[in-house]
Amino acid sequence: MQRIAHLIGGETASDPDARTSPVFNPATGEQSAELELASTTTVEDAIKKADAAFGDWSARTPINRARIMFRYKQLLEENKEELAVLVSREHGKTIDDAKGSITRGIEIVEFACGIPQMMKGEYSANVGTGVDSFNTRQALGVCAGITPFNFPAMVPLWMFPVALACGNTFVLKPSEKTPSCPLRMVELAHEAGVPKDVLSVVNGDKEAVNAILHDSRVKAVSFVGSTPIAEYIYQTGTAQNKRVQALGGAKNHMIIMPDADVSRVRDALIGSAFGSAGERCMAISVAVCVGEETADKVRDAISDAARKLNVGPYTDEKSDFGPLSNQVHMSKVMSYIDKGVEEGADLVVDGRNLKLQGYEGGYYVGPCVFDNVTDDMTIYKEEIFGPVLGIVRTETYADALDLVNEHELGNGAALFTNNGGVARHFVEKTNIGMVGVNVPIPVPVAYHSFGGWKRSLFGDHHMHGPEGIRFYTKMKTATVAWPAGKNTGPEFSIPTLS
Ligand code: NAD
Repeated sequence: MQRIAHLIGGETASDPDARTSPVFNPATGEQSAELELASTTTVEDAIKKADAAFGDWSARTPINRARIMFRYKQLLEENKEELAVLVSREHGKTIDDAKGSITRGIEIVEFACGIPQMMKGEYSANVGTGVDSFNTRQALGVCAGITPFNFPAMVPLWMFPVALACGNTFVLKPSEKTPSCPLRMVELAHEAGVPKDVLSVVNGDKEAVNAILHDSRVKAVSFVGSTPIAEYIYQTGTAQNKRVQALGGAKNHMIIMPDADVSRVRDALIGSAFGSAGERCMAISVAVCVGEETADKVRDAISDAARKLNVGPYTDEKSDFGPLSNQVHMSKVMSYIDKGVEEGADLVVDGRNLKLQGYEGGYYVGPCVFDNVTDDMTIYKEEIFGPVLGIVRTETYADALDLVNEHELGNGAALFTNNGGVARHFVEKTNIGMVGVNVPIPVPVAYHSFGGWKRSLFGDHHMHGPEGIRFYTKMKTATVAWPAGKNTGPEFSIPTLS
């Protein structure tokens, strides 16, 4: 059995007495590796190295760090195939989907290549006679990233390329369910020229996370995962005077207006609700149909399309989506579906009894579509994170918008319409961090920033883009005089422009 440990200062750090946790191949249900869970001492070792490396790394010119990012982008491109297999083997998503997520991650590295431009400050000449003022953005020190199972490549790449390009050092704690791709990506970063002590990976669970949160050398923590843990990370990290951005769960709605093109809606919904088995924080899990006629048309179109989907292992090119990532999560998704039936929603497509010959041990759940979901039902209120779409019927657009705005989660939302006025109103009035008009998964590109509102994000900064630069740097303002002429003696009142 493969044993996976940590990569600290470029060396594999293994401890034969460490606690371990199994890593599974969700396509078969077989264990693929045994993962070491870092002790506090192991995490402290990685932080110590990152802390010691900070001085030299942050003193390098931004263009030097940018050139390393250019090489890193090239290496990620060259190794995309291998990385995609590592993602799919431990997560279960299809190879094409894994490659797409790596491509989105590489776009963040491309963004980080522009760091000299983004670190530029502002300058004001003559703020007083012979006095100039300017500001610069400076790196924070050791930063840490704690990431979820569902995007083992993309989410770590939201974080460390930006943090490193700004001059920080970094300790990554990936999900214990999908550790192999992050480890390989960090090896490639070293190969690209990131000094080995500057970037380490520690694998682990709550103990490793708490060691990060309680170490005063860690100045900032980026987290992506479920809402309860995001809240815990934010509260614990900020109580330790750290900067924290903690992105949580989602319940993304798509409002469908009567004038929307049903075939476009169907195709948008089928991909965004069932792609990656619904294990995406930007998946659409609620279709809010305005008017009974719209709802009937959408239900029929989406049900037909869902029944035709191929669910299978990542090794089969015909698979539209794969299994859920693990047994515990599969049981949770199944119990949500049972609950939906119990609470009175109509299960028009039932994916509960999917059996795949040769893959009986895999964690497969077929597509499920519920009609007549109401806002008091558990399947409406809670994030399911599986291939389950609920249709909610409303009479008016105003009712649909209220639903979106009253939900406690606020990651993404979409509107499908041909009416510009409604679209403009939706963009302005939604209480949601990322919105799409006729775009089902409105994930911002690398040079914009990613983040939700309400209980989908704790903290003030979204990830990557301009917000990422702000998160990983602090501003310094300098006021500089090179005096000429006679010394006029001490001043006791506050200096003013006069
Ligand atoms: P999770 O919260 O269980 O785990 C995320 C990370 O936190 C992992 O590294 C894990 O080891 C660690 N962790 C888990 N329990 C912990 C505890 N008690 N104390 C300290 N650390 C702990 O999330 P997950 O199941 O890996 O990922 C799925 C969730 O992530 C979903 O809710 C999904 O919506 C969310 N997600 C959000 C975004 C976003 O951008 N908002 C993106 C991807 C995933």
